Amino acid sequence: MHRSFFIKTYGCQMNSYDSEKINDLLLFNGFRKAEDLEKTDVAILNTCHIREKASEKLYSDLGRLSIFKKNKEKLGKKFSIVVMGCVAQAEGKEIINRNNSVDYVVGPQNIQIIPNLLKKENFEKVHVNFLSEEKFQSLTFSKTNKTASMISIQEGCDKFCSFCVVPYTRGAEFSRTVEDIYAEINHVVQKGTKEVTLLGQNVSSYESTIYEDKEKKIKLANLCNIISKIPRLKRIRYLTSHPNDIDNYLISEHAKNEKMMPFLHLPIQSGSDKILKKMNRKHTKKQYLDLVKKIKLVVPKMAFSSDFIVGYPGETEEDFEQTVSVVNAVKFASSYSFVYSSRPGTPASTQEDVINPEVKKKRLTYLQELLIKHQNNFNNFFLDKEVEVLITDVGKKDNQYVGRTPHLQPVHVYSKKNLIGKILNIKIERLTSFSFHGKILN
Ligand code: SF4
Repeated sequence: MHRSFFIKTYGCQMNSYDSEKINDLLLFNGFRKAEDLEKTDVAILNTCHIREKASEKLYSDLGRLSIFKKNKEKLGKKFSIVVMGCVAQAEGKEIINRNNSVDYVVGPQNIQIIPNLLKKENFEKVHVNFLSEEKFQSLTFSKTNKTASMISIQEGCDKFCSFCVVPYTRGAEFSRTVEDIYAEINHVVQKGTKEVTLLGQNVSSYESTIYEDKEKKIKLANLCNIISKIPRLKRIRYLTSHPNDIDNYLISEHAKNEKMMPFLHLPIQSGSDKILKKMNRKHTKKQYLDLVKKIKLVVPKMAFSSDFIVGYPGETEEDFEQTVSVVNAVKFASSYSFVYSSRPGTPASTQEDVINPEVKKKRLTYLQELLIKHQNNFNNFFLDKEVEVLITDVGKKDNQYVGRTPHLQPVHVYSKKNLIGKILNIKIERLTSFSFHGKILN
């Protein structure tokens, strides 16, 4: 009987993508999928290093799993623990020093070797080299049918924002070839995908080359244009962008290509120029607001979401007010906001002038209430209106289906017929929390 595996994923969509790929690779190599961590032979923890709590969660899971492993071994059964992802990259051997029941530590660029590690079991325990090209070449295409698929097109980051671990855990920017991306998207579309989200830590800096009559540089706008020619692909999104990389070509691609969804996640982190400089973001508040204005002029339907860090070292009340003013100016459709927490190894971790936790908490509460107010206003606009919805999943209730609007709002509808993969016109009748409920019109 083949060994079973279970993958627990923490953190961002890049991690979800990597977990999906490991899932496919292990199935391809004869492993079986288990229902949960405690019913498996191989526990894989795909970790996130962005926030302190995420890595602490890993160590608490490892504590639990090591007891489980000892009990299994007493019964003569084998249980392997693999830690992959950004904590694996950042902490390497330290993970095994803290918990010696861990069998393998595998960085995000080395995940393709996991099946071999598990099959042969006599390798080095720590694998944290930067091998982006090798990684992408070794990953198999997904075997699952999904209406909305994530496709990784780029990894790593050269921006070095002072609070962020990504340049250290995912390495330098690396873009996949157009041919590889096209082939993977074409494959998932044949299997039923209608919407793709192109993923990258710094996706808007995507750059590759193709050879037609001569060598041609391909940026994100060109890539979106190329993949939009795939007939059954209906929607294109991408994530996560840096404001400095959004060029006019990308904006105009949004304007002329109806498959490009009018929703852009555009992190700003802070509205204060002083803090943006300390964060090494390399743009000002004005440059960000000018960019939003320019995009809105060309693509009036565009809505924005963003990331905010509250209480970065040195943030005064005036600095925080600048962030509030950005929120009121852009009126984001949704956002992610967190209090600053120091990540070891980042330049920000050595900065003094740390903000009192009570002050951070108070500012975060204020900001989140404001963000929710704008999100509600944005959503309320759609009440009683007809919206095009791509149905992606079944809901929790009988005959219920869930889909997404072009602006990524979740919509719930009821039908006795299978609606998965359909694009429907839906009249929005009600709003609960952040989801829409509606009636099918077509
Ligand atoms: S651009 Fe994004 S991924 Fe890159 S260093 Fe800054 S926050 Fe991290």
